[in-house]
Amino acid sequence: LNDLPTFDTAALRAKDAAHHLHPFTDTRSLNAAGARVIVRGEGVRIWDSEGQEIIDGMSGLWCVNLGYGRQDLVDAATHQMQVLPYYNAFFKTTTAPAAELSALLSEIAPPGFEHVFFTNSGSEGNDTVIRLVRRYWDLQGQPQRKILISRHNAYHGSTMAAASLGGMSGMHEQGDLPIPGITHIDQPYQLQHGKPGESEHDFGLRAAGWLEAKILELGADQVAAFIGEPVQGAGGVIIPPASYWPEIQRICDKYGILLVSDEVICGFGRLGHWFGCQHPHINTRPDLITFAKGVTSGYLPLGGVLVGERIARALIEQGGDFNHGFTYSGHPTCCAVAIANVQALRSEGVVQRVATDTAPYLARQFATLADHPLAGDAQSLGMVAGLVLYKDKAARTLFDADLGVGYRCRDNCFKNGVVMRAVEERMIIAPPLVMTHDEIDLMIARIRRSLDDTL
Ligand code: PLP
Repeated sequence: LNDLPTFDTAALRAKDAAHHLHPFTDTRSLNAAGARVIVRGEGVRIWDSEGQEIIDGMSGLWCVNLGYGRQDLVDAATHQMQVLPYYNAFFKTTTAPAAELSALLSEIAPPGFEHVFFTNSGSEGNDTVIRLVRRYWDLQGQPQRKILISRHNAYHGSTMAAASLGGMSGMHEQGDLPIPGITHIDQPYQLQHGKPGESEHDFGLRAAGWLEAKILELGADQVAAFIGEPVQGAGGVIIPPASYWPEIQRICDKYGILLVSDEVICGFGRLGHWFGCQHPHINTRPDLITFAKGVTSGYLPLGGVLVGERIARALIEQGGDFNHGFTYSGHPTCCAVAIANVQALRSEGVVQRVATDTAPYLARQFATLADHPLAGDAQSLGMVAGLVLYKDKAARTLFDADLGVGYRCRDNCFKNGVVMRAVEERMIIAPPLVMTHDEIDLMIARIRRSLDDTL
């Protein structure tokens, strides 16, 4: 930190408020207090321009899986930029990093995933998913199978198509969405949809049954695919009951519907497996896997779709040109960073350690927060966790959304040196996978203090 230049925070805030339109932000709120200027990161910590140290409980935006300050990732980018900063993968050319990364991803992917299509982001990955599933059914001689089923409160990205796949009502309202051919079922969130006395197991089966009902309503021969995040992330870390995903898999199999696992958050070790669908709690066999974020630990933008055998075979053997792609599909510098990232996750045993040590420890420590008068239902899976803020825990009544208790709690967290995100009644975290036990303890202590300050 000593060699950091000094930042004129007031000037930066003024420029930012005057000229920078932030994603998912009310610009007027920036005029009042200004944005916090983040200037440095190291390990699981970030620092702002005023010198405050903050534990990054959200890994940036669910992406900095390896933590900040990794020289190996910097070196990989520097080397590639010196050798060949950019070339494309159109018109029968490739680059060494794109070729190497595609092979490496097929090594770590679940069995049957030998091919990858590269994008810049998760949103573009999910746009690509729509193109792939519709192309697949065209090639199968079933062009009427166009509909993708997703879930309310899902987040699949911000392009017109990805936001349509997502189930965020606030996004749909502003964009005249969804686009045609996309429909939604309810999410498996027991607090919202459970019946009194219903077991978690029974609720999971009932929630999966909404997919079957929707398929029957639409006609199975009209449905192309079902898409879901193993654990809904931006929706508030909604961890489904263990009975949910196997039943979804059974229903997809029964009607021959493609299953898409959006692993933009859950991929690259977040749940203690390379991909979330491999976690025993999820345990699905998707046809397509969307990824982004953790593939480079966020050091450079990269996303894509892992394409399972039946779709890849149809595309390659029958498809001819696939008329889809981006200037930066397979960007060599981004791919070089991804290779270094995957190699580090592997050689340092990070994914394995999450499964056997870090995630179980986080689960135990995070669960202790449920004894706080404000907090309940503290749950985690791998390195994502969420709890509910209750107005009256005994009666299980929630705060009026307008009161902004979650935002107050989030702001208290920031003040106390930890990033935590507020989603409606839920407070959530997704810390870097490399977090130590001591760092987890400190993060939990800071969250507890912030809950106290919110009381
Ligand atoms: N899918 C999921 C599950 C996500 O969480 C996100 C981003 O948060 C996206 C897709 C969109 O990714 P990107 O922001 O890289 O476009």
